[in-house]
Amino acid sequence: MALPGRKLIVVSNREPYRLKGGRLERTVGGLAAALDPVMRASGGVWITSGVKGRGDISSRIAVPPEDPSYVMRKVPITEEDMDGFYNGYSNRFLWPLCHITLDRVRFKRSYWASYGKVNRLFAGAVIDESSGDPAVLLQDYHLAMCALSIRASLPDALISLFWHIPWPPYAVFRICPHRRELLEGLLANDLIGFQLDAFKTNFIRCAQEELGARFDPEKDALLRNGRATVLKTLPVSIDFEWFDSAARSGEARAFISGFLKDRGLQGATLGISVNRLDYTKGLIKCLDSIEVFFDKYPGYRGKVVFLHIAVPTRKAEPYKSYRERVRKRVAAINKSLSTGRWRPVEYIDADFSHKELAALYGAARFIIVSSVYDGMNLVAKEYIASQTGLAGCALVSEFAGSSEDIPGVTPINPYDAEGCADAINGALTSAPAERKRSLRLAREHIRRNDIYKWAGDLLRELERARWQNISSRTSKRSKRR
Ligand code: UDP
Repeated sequence: MALPGRKLIVVSNREPYRLKGGRLERTVGGLAAALDPVMRASGGVWITSGVKGRGDISSRIAVPPEDPSYVMRKVPITEEDMDGFYNGYSNRFLWPLCHITLDRVRFKRSYWASYGKVNRLFAGAVIDESSGDPAVLLQDYHLAMCALSIRASLPDALISLFWHIPWPPYAVFRICPHRRELLEGLLANDLIGFQLDAFKTNFIRCAQEELGARFDPEKDALLRNGRATVLKTLPVSIDFEWFDSAARSGEARAFISGFLKDRGLQGATLGISVNRLDYTKGLIKCLDSIEVFFDKYPGYRGKVVFLHIAVPTRKAEPYKSYRERVRKRVAAINKSLSTGRWRPVEYIDADFSHKELAALYGAARFIIVSSVYDGMNLVAKEYIASQTGLAGCALVSEFAGSSEDIPGVTPINPYDAEGCADAINGALTSAPAERKRSLRLAREHIRRNDIYKWAGDLLRELERARWQNISSRTSKRSKRR
């Protein structure tokens, strides 16, 4: 899968594997889930961050533990720099800005200084790992300033950045005090990937307005200062076959029967939501919809149980307060609606492995994806891939990329709790043939557009992007002559 003659280097802030109880385990989150299979297949180095003085930050570790096939290298970062770069600029500023939750946007100049510094440290590690000109896959909004520093030392490296989250409209992006620098940093890439056409269009407008860059629709590239940066819409995906077979396995059957027994849920009809605990996932809105559903359709009381899985991955504010609000909301709903041994919401804040999730997805009669804004949302795809019995229904926020990307899902508006409650009732009363038809459509789409296709497309587009630059340089030279 790698580009011939080029070492593959992935860079992301979140590590693909983490030490837990003395063992290396894959981390929670769409990114690790998406790129680990690619690195397993192609080998290379995955550069990530480690906080100086905290835990094991051995610089190079062979992963995955059961079948070492690539190297994870940690870049040591001081606690203070990490705070400014990660909690500060990335998560208090860029994350809410790009998800258009503007009342949560916080900015300090020191955040920006740390962001630049840590991006340069990541770039230094890439340069250090490079033998010849590598193919570099930068991942996400933490690394907007990385390509610029790599390019300064390795002008012929192939560099791409995939922007996993939404790119906001210009009217919102203008809030960013360093908007020109960020855009210039990003245009040092040969290729920038987006989840949806809408995000790409927003980015083009921002680069035109701020930098006067020119968009060439034939090349699908922004042109500036003699460089072409190709922009592509490449919706990220999952390993469909893996989830499909995990959900069919004997292990899944054993897990689910143990899970239901331990929690006294045998015989219940299950609904599910699976998220990192994040305000963009609309967790409170989802709970509001569940409450309205049981109020409006009381016949389901005692029969339907909603598994609300919310894994805390970010520990600083505003996540601590948000977690409290979610907990309180669950407690209030369970207090007002529970009868006998039945509780409407089963709230779980421990994280599950993908094997366990495949079993849970397979058993759930419906899923709710309630994001108020989401680049893609892999959970929706995982649920559909695990629905091997074709009995379920995917209710997916129309503000999550997956709702636009996957045919056959039922779009919901998480702001409209009554509408969501009706959609749950619709899912529970719909004809089996209708659910089968929708799931077949959705499954076929994800099967054909899986993570391997995504990675192959990304690498192919990266190589093509290189040719755009070579040809634009050549045509400039011939014009000068
Ligand atoms: N996930 C997991 N265990 C859990 C909860 C979530 O492994 O207990 C994974 C989930 O399977 C999915 C990812 O976390 O692969 C979440 O990705 P998504 O795109 O839905 O959202 P993101 O976290 O990237 O915003």
